[in-house]
Amino acid sequence: MAKAKFVNFLEKFEKAIKKKVLLKKKISVNENNKEYLKKKIIIKKRKNMQIKDIGFLIGEILMKISFKRFIVKAPIGTLYLVSTQNLIPKTSRKEGSRIAMDTSTLCIMRMIKKNADPFINTILEKNPLTVFYIEIGGLEKQLIQLREIVELPLFNKEIFDKIGIKIPKGVLLYGPPGTGKTLMAKSLAFNIKAKFLKITGSGVVDKYIGESARIIREIFYFAKKNIPCIIFLDEIDAIGGKRLSDGTSADREIQRTMMELLNQLDGYEELIDIKTIMATNRPDVLDPALLRPGRIDKKILIPLPDFKGKQEILKIHLSRIKTKGDINFEKLISLSKNFNGADIRNICTEAGLFALRKKRTFIVNSDLYSAIQKIFKGKERIKNFF
Ligand code: ATP
Repeated sequence: MAKAKFVNFLEKFEKAIKKKVLLKKKISVNENNKEYLKKKIIIKKRKNMQIKDIGFLIGEILMKISFKRFIVKAPIGTLYLVSTQNLIPKTSRKEGSRIAMDTSTLCIMRMIKKNADPFINTILEKNPLTVFYIEIGGLEKQLIQLREIVELPLFNKEIFDKIGIKIPKGVLLYGPPGTGKTLMAKSLAFNIKAKFLKITGSGVVDKYIGESARIIREIFYFAKKNIPCIIFLDEIDAIGGKRLSDGTSADREIQRTMMELLNQLDGYEELIDIKTIMATNRPDVLDPALLRPGRIDKKILIPLPDFKGKQEILKIHLSRIKTKGDINFEKLISLSKNFNGADIRNICTEAGLFALRKKRTFIVNSDLYSAIQKIFKGKERIKNFF
């Protein structure tokens, strides 16, 4: 009797233990679920905040009236007298700083870090440039001149100090389109391992109307923080043209940009690691103030390639393509009258397309002739159109 009672008790005890283990398991599962739900709530809350978060206007402080009052420039260029939030440190409320403003009250809500301008990312060459000097054809003399101005002061500053001459700051490359001005600037940046910022004059004025002077300031600021740096200003005639006394508001915008450029060129006296290379097809329209030594120290003509130049350029571009049979360079060059470097590169591309159409994976002399004919016809058509 007592034994049966004991067995019964044991069974009950076992059941109770099993129940407890099961409950423990359930509790741990629930706890895991609780953690998971907690995380989910945090994510949802963040998403909710992001949706609710309002945007700000980006502006610039032009003048400090008092610790709380500032004259600011809004994105469209209008000036406003605004106040600032108390949380912003007084020391950071400086003229020229970029700010985030409330969309309705225009109150300054935040200061934006100086190096945060997204524009710089769009003009900075991010892919590593790999343009060797030997990939430039027919411009040996010009390349030597350019390297003297840019490379020499960078690696042999003492020479300039010994003689007592000022280190050149900028170069102007001028000449017809497609002759290799950009290519030279890029190869220089690659060879001296410099950052390469490329902007076109027309692009700055068109896209950033009311802001272009600030953009020029940002570019030089970035360059100073990222030496060595080459600033390549293409189509400089768009902002560096001769100034007229009475102009439209667009002209005034261009003039403001140009004044800022002159200001910046005068301002980085002590820095030898920033070089400005400007390029234009219209040197005749440039303002003499920009051309004076101390701003642009050397003007280098990049002409249309001569016979030897064309041959070199053709050889450079053909070396990247599969060819078969002898290539008659003399005849090809004599046919490509008035062709610039870009046209010669185009001959190779077109010849490649002709070969593809004939289901070949290599080009022959006749493809090059057909390509020249095609490019020549295209050029004539454009000429006759005007
Ligand atoms: P633009 O004045 O219109 O801006 P550009 O003078 O800057 O023209 P590039 O952009 O440097 O001309 O040249 C266009 C392309 O033509 C180059 O990427 C290169 O492939 C080819 N090219 C031009 N000139 C040369 C050259 N001297 N040697 C080798 N390739 C050249």
